[in-house]
Amino acid sequence: MEEFSKPISSLAGVGDKTASKLHKIGLETIQDLILYFPRDWQDLSKLTTIKELEKDELVTIKGRVDIINSKRAWKKKMNLTEALVSDDSDSIKIIWFNQPYIAKSLNQGDEVYFSGKVTQDKFGIHLNNPTYKKANKEETTHTARIVPIYSLTKGVTDKQLRFLISEALKFAKDIPEWLPEELIKKFKLRDLPWAYKKIHFPDSFKELDEAKKRLKFDELFIIQLYTQNLKKEVQAQKAPTIIFKEDEIKEFVKSLPFELTAAQKKSAWRILQDLEKNTPMNRLLEGDVGSGKTVVAALAMYDAALNGYQSVLMAPTEILAEQHYKTICELIPAKDVALITGAKKRKIENSRIIIGTHALIQKGIDFDNLGLAIIDEQHRFGVKQRKTLRYKSGNSKTVPHLLSMTATPIPRSLALTIYGDLDLSIINELPKNRKPIISRLVTEDKRPKAYDFIKNKVQEGRQVFVVCPLIEESDKLGVKSVTQEYDKLCNIIFPDLKVGMLHGRLKSAEKEQTMQDFKENKINILVSTSVIEVGIDIPNATIMMIEGADRFGMAQLHQFRGRVGRDVHQSYCLLFTDSDSEKSLARLNMFVSSNDGFELAEYDLQIRGPGDVYGTQQSGYLDMLQLATLADHVLINETKEAVEVILPALEKYPLLEKKLDTFTKQLHLE
Ligand code: ADP
Ligand code: MG
Repeated sequence: MEEFSKPISSLAGVGDKTASKLHKIGLETIQDLILYFPRDWQDLSKLTTIKELEKDELVTIKGRVDIINSKRAWKKKMNLTEALVSDDSDSIKIIWFNQPYIAKSLNQGDEVYFSGKVTQDKFGIHLNNPTYKKANKEETTHTARIVPIYSLTKGVTDKQLRFLISEALKFAKDIPEWLPEELIKKFKLRDLPWAYKKIHFPDSFKELDEAKKRLKFDELFIIQLYTQNLKKEVQAQKAPTIIFKEDEIKEFVKSLPFELTAAQKKSAWRILQDLEKNTPMNRLLEGDVGSGKTVVAALAMYDAALNGYQSVLMAPTEILAEQHYKTICELIPAKDVALITGAKKRKIENSRIIIGTHALIQKGIDFDNLGLAIIDEQHRFGVKQRKTLRYKSGNSKTVPHLLSMTATPIPRSLALTIYGDLDLSIINELPKNRKPIISRLVTEDKRPKAYDFIKNKVQEGRQVFVVCPLIEESDKLGVKSVTQEYDKLCNIIFPDLKVGMLHGRLKSAEKEQTMQDFKENKINILVSTSVIEVGIDIPNATIMMIEGADRFGMAQLHQFRGRVGRDVHQSYCLLFTDSDSEKSLARLNMFVSSNDGFELAEYDLQIRGPGDVYGTQQSGYLDMLQLATLADHVLINETKEAVEVILPALEKYPLLEKKLDTFTKQLHLE
């Protein structure tokens, strides 16, 4: 076994206790330690003279130990080590708690670097628990340099981690360089051991930047290598040729209760063209909430059915699968449509169109000549689930065409990185009949007015969603719960109206009944958790009221809002919050002022940083980025170029193939 693959406990001076604490943050091997990159770096490389010290500053001083001793203090529960240290300007007291060994390791007369926070009490200023390093040693790991700051676990200090990592780094040189030499040269990258060493302990910010560049390059390169390789694999496979049945499709489009938007037509046309090829389609259909993706999917499924092929549509929740089932049954009356969810399994042999949840990809569900697989709200599914669906063709010679759909408004350039294996169609317009939704942040004193408003709208025949953050009352958090809110609205606020309740803990049959009643307007007001977040389509609902709005992400709020405004009626989104955090309020105000998912995504990108980009949290790949972000445009382009150079001859680079293999396995673990 290579040294760096050995457990941390094999490092000198690491006991089981430390090892088990590190285990908690996922660190098991020496390599894990090396790969545990700092979350920040602090510049302690500038020395301050003792005379210049000011309260609350984080400083590094270099001084001579004049006195040092250790004693029991305060009812003997604590050990206190005190030192007096001086430089040419002045002297200062230093205090350490419960670290008696320091008095043994530092001696009178030693020249030492101390880094820590300046604290003040009634006796004047002193340094509290500083890290230290004797000045005569060549290497200064802890102090007098740029120091790494790590995400810690209980019982493990930064200092301990720094020590362990510096020990682990002795084995970094043995970690094989997997990036081809030509790329290292071409893109002027540092070698791997150097980058590992300097990401933890850079001697300057320039070195830190170079280390970051190399390691970010790796992260972005491997993602793109993975997606492009996938694309290559897919293109090497055969898919059934599904002829574009133009006459029937035109007839179908004419029979729709509305006219398709230009963007819908264009996307549908691209998809129908893809289906005619004998290589599998792999397309992402991106369109803001309410842009009408379902009908585009239905067109493609209808085309496949006309050709005698089965097609399948997978949705992330039962409620949504149920809804799609009903919609598609209405749209395509002549075809036999089946529904498969955890709760329901119908015979599918004779069905040309099958709708369901992830239950579709379970064992025991077999397709017959599957020609087309569609994944709705694809970001809700893991990489593995998506892949499983793709290979369930029921035919050993072909794989189905794949269409993924998402409402996540990721800009095209970004989408091409994360979903580099996919072709992209964007529906960038809403149907013409829509009025922009009016959104308001409502203050608590206007709540009664909001309830009056709701009552009026219900009397006009419209319906209302009320979304709450939790299912049951939680006294700890003081956030609104569905059951509590339901009781209140039912009994006190709207005793004359029909109020329904929906959340994930209800039985499937109950959920279904409630949705059905809401759809048929037998329920006026539906109180629910975020279960209605994705996909739900109730055109007659025109008010979306959100309690505890600060507790939801921007993407989620936009999804909620997308539940209304799906028809000609003017719609409203009312946000309530009891937060007085300036940041939350700024975010909610921004949300209220824009109806545009792309704009909100951009805002989120700036506020929260690209690691957290709007709606992409579950993309799978992004979680694997430690240092790189989607804002690293230059590196994204460079790595893309690098992949183009390498991929055609991937087999020439066995180490790279191995790396790709490890990456793939990791990705499928999520
Ligand atoms: P999403 O893209 O969010 O999945 P849906 O497919 O659920 O959107 O469509 C939203 C609503 O808009 C549905 O009620 C659908 O019938 C309706 N719709 C779709 N396309 C059009 C159109 N071109 N004109 C008018 N209404 C449309
Ligand atoms: Mg949808």
